[in-house]
Amino acid sequence: MRYSVFTLAQQALKGHTGWPKAWRQVAPQKAYDIIVVGGGGHGLATAYYLARNHGMKRVALVEKGLIGLGNVGRNTTIVRANYNLEGNEPFYAHSLRLWEGLEKELNYNVMFSQRGVINLFHSDGQRDRFVRRGNSILLHGADAVLLDRDGVRRYAPMIDIDNSRFPVMGGLLQPRAGTARHDAVAWGFARGADRLGVDIIQNCEVIGFDIQNGVVKGVETTLGPIRAERVGIAVAGNTSTLGRMAGLELPIESHVLQAFVSEGLKPFLDCVVTFGVGHFYVSQSDKGGMVFGGDIDGYNSYAQRGNLPMVEHVVEAGVTMIPRLSRVRVLRSWGGIMDMSMDGSPIIDKTPVEGLYLNCGWNYGGFKATPASGWCFAHLMATGEMHEVSRAHRLDRFRTGHSIDEEGTGAQPNLH
Ligand SMILES: Cc1cc2nc3c(=O)[nH]c(=O)nc-3n(C[C@H](O)[C@H](O)[C@H](O)COP(=O)(O)OP(=O)(O)OC[C@H]3O[C@@H](n4cnc5c(N)ncnc54)[C@H](O)[C@@H]3O)c2cc1C
Repeated sequence: MRYSVFTLAQQALKGHTGWPKAWRQVAPQKAYDIIVVGGGGHGLATAYYLARNHGMKRVALVEKGLIGLGNVGRNTTIVRANYNLEGNEPFYAHSLRLWEGLEKELNYNVMFSQRGVINLFHSDGQRDRFVRRGNSILLHGADAVLLDRDGVRRYAPMIDIDNSRFPVMGGLLQPRAGTARHDAVAWGFARGADRLGVDIIQNCEVIGFDIQNGVVKGVETTLGPIRAERVGIAVAGNTSTLGRMAGLELPIESHVLQAFVSEGLKPFLDCVVTFGVGHFYVSQSDKGGMVFGGDIDGYNSYAQRGNLPMVEHVVEAGVTMIPRLSRVRVLRSWGGIMDMSMDGSPIIDKTPVEGLYLNCGWNYGGFKATPASGWCFAHLMATGEMHEVSRAHRLDRFRTGHSIDEEGTGAQPNLH
């Protein structure tokens, strides 16, 4: 069923009793052409684009729990394309373009809101780096505007511009960046993939791989074995666990990242503000809650909950830049398991096992990458070639020295 104002009116007249399920509940078949492991944003987008862009008919997505309960439904919803390096910027610029057409493409309201993201700077040196970053962003077709103090004040008057420790000198604004409703992105891709014939198999955990003579033949799951000639892993924080099952040692650490939401307030902040020096970012949800986050917890973990010292650190940074936040009550906090790569950049590549592909290393930035990640991973699995905007995201770059060192966005084992 296509969602439209007419179907809404039609269903309203029937007391909303006729809505079909957005995706089918299916049991696994014995074999598929391609299996995607992981029902987060990246796995679902990959399955969708395999069917949509490459006409693949026999695709299955297997998820150990229910779709959307991983990081895709736990993040702070920030979407931007203001990366710095050659290997990353074209990829994120592509992602932002896909975001701009996503609701129409999926016929699903993901509440994409281009409210702008401002990265604050506090010194001449930091401003010079942001100018370089802005130029690099513009060269790759995304947008960037350098704001002075008054510019920041106009966008976000509640910021303590004259902060004695971190006086704000200006900010790098990306007007086309913003936020989206995170779990709706998972649901929208799931519905789209299902409509194109993808089997979404929930409550089906992959517990091993069938690998014969270095070639993948399928997966072992809690619902039994499923055969496939190509298998893609897109399990975010569980990447190293799945990698180990396939005999791979990966340059990934799993860390908890926490997020927070306050009680609902009247409209207060209509853009996203990032205070990088203190590691704090904040936006206001449509329900009025201040949604914010900061740094990863300082130890490796697979637990989806965080620790109190990081809560203190994040709140401290927030109150430093926006003192009025000290009067606001925090309602909830939660954690997700992040797949932190050693250079802060993703991996979308083949593995040494023939037919086994890898999508991981999303660090703090995987939500904004969701459409392009699915697009490029589907391209790789369907054609055997890396997509042109994702050519640098190779697995062997850590061995060959071609790392894409997005400073400050990776695991930074020296700090944690
Ligand atoms: C608190 C927090 C805030 C964040 N904020 C932002 C932000 O503002 N902007 C941004 O761009 N990014 C943000 N991120 C990062 C972003 O959410 C992730 O990088 C991205 O969601 C990861 O990809 P995914 O959606 O596919 O992951 P997930 O949703 O975690 O999907 C992976 C799936 O794999 C499944 N799985 C695991 N093991 C198995 C198995 N053995 N068999 C079958 N299935 C399995 C899991 O159950 C899970 O559903 C944030 C992350 C967190 C935790």
